Amino acid sequence: MRKMLATGVILLMLSVQVGAVSAQPVERVDSLNIHYINGDWSYDPVTITIPASEDNEYVYALNALISGENLPEYSFNELPPTLQVNDVTLTQGVATVDLPGNFNSIVNDAGYAADVVMDILIYNVFKFGDISEVNFTFDGQPDDTFKFSRLTRTEYFSPVVEAKEHKALPYQLTEKLHKVKDSFKNMTKEQQESFLDDANQQDLFTASQLQVLAAYNPSVTTIVVDPGHGGSDPGAVGQLGSTTYSEKTINLSMALHLKNYLQTNGYTVLMTRTTDVAVGINDRYAFANNNNADLFISVHNNSASNSSAKGATALYPNNHDVAQSKDVAYWMHHFVTNDMSQYAKPYPMSDSDVKGVLKWTTMPAVITETAFMSNTSDLTYLSSDFNRQTLAEDLGVGIRYWDQYGEYWYY
Ligand SMILES: [Zn+2]
Repeated sequence: MRKMLATGVILLMLSVQVGAVSAQPVERVDSLNIHYINGDWSYDPVTITIPASEDNEYVYALNALISGENLPEYSFNELPPTLQVNDVTLTQGVATVDLPGNFNSIVNDAGYAADVVMDILIYNVFKFGDISEVNFTFDGQPDDTFKFSRLTRTEYFSPVVEAKEHKALPYQLTEKLHKVKDSFKNMTKEQQESFLDDANQQDLFTASQLQVLAAYNPSVTTIVVDPGHGGSDPGAVGQLGSTTYSEKTINLSMALHLKNYLQTNGYTVLMTRTTDVAVGINDRYAFANNNNADLFISVHNNSASNSSAKGATALYPNNHDVAQSKDVAYWMHHFVTNDMSQYAKPYPMSDSDVKGVLKWTTMPAVITETAFMSNTSDLTYLSSDFNRQTLAEDLGVGIRYWDQYGEYWYY
């Protein structure tokens, strides 16, 4: 309800502008189909009835798409609700969609990728009729920095895409692919190929989008959870009143909660330690490598000489599996920072860092530093087992999101 109200206000504000910008009258229709993305590689068509008072039914229909009007269940429904299309003109098969000049900031505020939003709009515009080309303008000005600023129907639905184009695809493009990732992953190679063929023939997604999905597939089965420190190595030490807390103990507690969460969600979890024993750096990464783990998570907490430093961060390797490690680090951080302030965004280890557990693993790897032992409020938070479980489950949710969705798209 709140979403609809906000949209209504924006629509009212823009309606003056629409009248001024709209030079090309469009052919009058009483209803239009818009297409919501659903979870199985298809778009659900929904018929939108155009009120007689609307002077541009294409603008009305696209804004209905954005606001989620008559949205079918399970459909993609998260377009930035404050975005409103200024104008749509159709001239001899060429459609021009005019978006607000601050389009980028609107989609950024919504945690969205501009290319993804434009992709959804362009799909719908091609479905409006015999459209051979779609162009986007921003308050009347072209901007070629977007992937989909100008596309022909052939380009958009092309079954042949050069390899270099895959690499150039915007990172965030897989946003709309994520819902099918699980079912795709469970298919055999042959099934995947025929699935991609079918999807191409049905014009559901462009070939390049499908190949991004095929290329990025974490396929996580076995996860090694590594509670930092142990035995004679306490890690960081913090004090609350007369009670002393060791990082090794808090790490182990969190790691065991993480293990339980991941096992409940179907993963095989191997621990480098389950009790208060010392484990060498070499034994930690070798354990993960020898067990062919798909992911290595080393659970730590932070410490600083400045006791005001607080919050969460994470490290990922700079010498192998960098992109995937970075993605999983950001996914975990995304959920951890729901419950813990952010100290620093996840960052790659430096070359001089002796972070052996990251450097020598042969799979994506992350060190999590969820809170500061040296900060009173962080340590107070960590001293509660319930809070440690909360943080551990945040990490676990992040891992599941990475496994399911792949690329982190909120950078
Ligand atoms: Zn540590």
